[in-house]
Amino acid sequence: MKEMNPNAKIETKCLHAGYTPKNGEPRVVPIVQSTTYVYDSTDDVAAVFDDPTKSLIYSRFENPTTDAVEKKIAALEGGVAAMCTSSGQAASLLSILNICEAGDSFIASTSIYGGTINLFSVTLKRMGIECIWVSVDATEEELNAAFKPNTKAVFGETIANPALTVLNIEMWANAAHAHGVPLIIDNTFATPILCRPFEWGADIIIHSTSKYMDGHAVQVGGVIVDSGKFDWKNGNFPCMTEPDESYHGIVYTEQYAFAPYIVKARMQLMRDFGCYPAANSSFLLNLGLETLAVRMKQYCQNALAVARFIQQSDKIQSVTYPGLDDNKYKALADKYLPDGASGVIAISIKGGRDAAVKFMDSLKLASNEVHVADIRTCVLHPASATHRQLTDEQLAAAGIDGGLIRLSVGLENVEDIIADVKQALDKV
Ligand SMILES: *Cc1c(COP(=O)(O)O)cnc(C)c1O
Repeated sequence: MKEMNPNAKIETKCLHAGYTPKNGEPRVVPIVQSTTYVYDSTDDVAAVFDDPTKSLIYSRFENPTTDAVEKKIAALEGGVAAMCTSSGQAASLLSILNICEAGDSFIASTSIYGGTINLFSVTLKRMGIECIWVSVDATEEELNAAFKPNTKAVFGETIANPALTVLNIEMWANAAHAHGVPLIIDNTFATPILCRPFEWGADIIIHSTSKYMDGHAVQVGGVIVDSGKFDWKNGNFPCMTEPDESYHGIVYTEQYAFAPYIVKARMQLMRDFGCYPAANSSFLLNLGLETLAVRMKQYCQNALAVARFIQQSDKIQSVTYPGLDDNKYKALADKYLPDGASGVIAISIKGGRDAAVKFMDSLKLASNEVHVADIRTCVLHPASATHRQLTDEQLAAAGIDGGLIRLSVGLENVEDIIADVKQALDKV
């Protein structure tokens, strides 16, 4: 088969990027369910270790099925390389550990996923890495003032889960670059269909592929994508420019200049931590990616209709959806998410936690589950679930109150979703 045109539109890339079967080979990305790969001689194996990017060694850090998915996601985001991980959490962790060590700091927006907040504020702190929190609404001056001499990265979420704030990616990228460090974006909710952060200056993108990318709630996974554009040789990253003693003195920016960040993450961190997805999971993820473009358009349409309906109800304190005209982030959404603001809505019900619970337990079609961005409509109460571990202060900073419900609008007929929401609101 011929290679896909690299300038193909994103719908085409969803189907064809990453895997081009040759004459007589399987049409669908095959599941290579093997831990290891065979070579003819000891010398051949030794050669593989000399340059592990050239051939396969071991499925703790590389696998042909996963490789096809990595290439597809890199193409969708417009990056040069990607590495899948066994969860979104693993992707966030490795994205920071790849460039920060004990004694370093990095900046993160306060409005990010609750699991990431725990990881950054508790676990990384224990490892000697400080997270400096900056409001998602910070001015450029406030953001610039937060940097310290040891700050090695900046981290934010395109559309935050669950606060649904929209990050001013361009401004955050400018601030990061002015201090010689990369901007890492968690693009989980937007997906590359709605926003491609590299086009706005981001350097590294991570995803929880468990959400829209998979879409069907069948695999937990993550990915890190490298834009290939950041200048690692600016003096701030000796870990990239000095020999890696744990890999026979490799200098990532020299030997792997095309994507030093991803090659280092794989050869050093994935080798040591081994949080790599199974081939079968990558196969399932690939099925989700094939329809991602079609699904995202429908999620956006359905969510906007549901948000507009809920807005009419007198039981509601507020409806947060960046696509609504009265939303605080509408201007940023128009800029960064011109094709739609994804499928997740945050609702705050009058009467706080009790009313929220009554509403959620009255839903019939929408399921109550610890998930989001599923193909089926689902709801979650962040304050008692994903964000349960946070202090009141952290909850407020992440934009969450006791009455807040996260409604993840699925692909059922929108009239059925609205009817379900209506009957549940009537019971409150
Ligand atoms: C779910 C989620 C994560 C964590 O991903 P897992 O796959 O659950 O580990 C990270 N960021 C965002 C925005 C998420 O929604």
